[in-house]
Amino acid sequence: MIYIPDSTKKKAELISVNKVYLPRSTRLPYPMEKSAAGPSSGTQSITLSFNDKHVKLAVSRDTKECFSLQQNGENNCFQILKKNILFLKNVRMVPILFHAPDQAFMNIENRCIHNCAFCNLSNTKMADDGYDADYIAKLILNASNRNDFKAVALTSGVYPNSKMIIRKMCHITKTIKKTLPSIPIGVEPLITDREEIALLKKAGADEIKINLQIPDRNLFKKICPGLSYDNILDMLIYAVKIFGEGKVTSNILYGLGETDDTVVQAVEKLAEIGVTATLRRIRINKLNKTKIEKSLLYKLPSNVSASRILRLAVEQKKVFKKYGLTPETFKTMCHRCGCCDIVPFIDL
Ligand code: SF4
Ligand code: SF4
Repeated sequence: MIYIPDSTKKKAELISVNKVYLPRSTRLPYPMEKSAAGPSSGTQSITLSFNDKHVKLAVSRDTKECFSLQQNGENNCFQILKKNILFLKNVRMVPILFHAPDQAFMNIENRCIHNCAFCNLSNTKMADDGYDADYIAKLILNASNRNDFKAVALTSGVYPNSKMIIRKMCHITKTIKKTLPSIPIGVEPLITDREEIALLKKAGADEIKINLQIPDRNLFKKICPGLSYDNILDMLIYAVKIFGEGKVTSNILYGLGETDDTVVQAVEKLAEIGVTATLRRIRINKLNKTKIEKSLLYKLPSNVSASRILRLAVEQKKVFKKYGLTPETFKTMCHRCGCCDIVPFIDL
């Protein structure tokens, strides 16, 4: 029996709804974020902390939302109401460095040649020609002067091709490591061949995330038509050889109508090869809903309940225990951040 603290149950409820009403008059201690990548991409979001937990929620201006954030005195003190009844006290807003608390988590390319139905990068039309690698490195080095700078992470769309992105990621990684050798760096690229994994390691990356994304093979073909399920598994096997166990992770998304068994089997399949999966309730929003439903040829399930989020996190923890894995070995990316998921060994 795995004990689930009340605060974790409340975090699961917030993740399930994923939105909070924020009155326009609220005085926030830090700016809100508009992410280009990650589950909240394309929307304004706010990162909150309570009982040592972090959660990132989309900001809504609709007074009818289930959850609302209410200022409770001066100086970064808030409470969350659920249908106008007190739900959580002692809530604080957390500053983010770039995209995540304590991390400079940068998206180095906002365009993507692939067309994964859930991914807002494939919807984002950027007016510019992408970001220059030296400019990104400079932003990260500038951010390193802040006291909350603890880690660097790099993610990316694929444009114009995978090789160019890997080259850019290696360049940024090398530049950061030269000046800040002890800062952990995590990388989250689309990998198409093994050599790219070795190049990233050689450049100084400490951790890698290669996303399986959709656990069900049939749904995978519909949602990520440009990617290969088997190739991703092959790349993950090789990544564990190069980076080691406890340093390789992979997003597994759920909430598209798959069964719990399919999700847990995918977590276990990755654990068998030494990969510590990040299990994530897929975020549906106005930017990706129609595209996902067109790919699936059915309407999406109305919501992912808090009880399913908790049930799957409990199963994930059991799998991790069986294979001697824990998100606590990660110093970068989502396992460290914990804003979007119930993280085994940290939240329960
Ligand atoms: S390959 Fe990655 S960045 Fe590109 S559309 Fe798919 S999920 Fe998005
Ligand atoms: S958990 Fe991952 S995707 Fe979510 S805010 Fe943190 S770093 Fe970003």
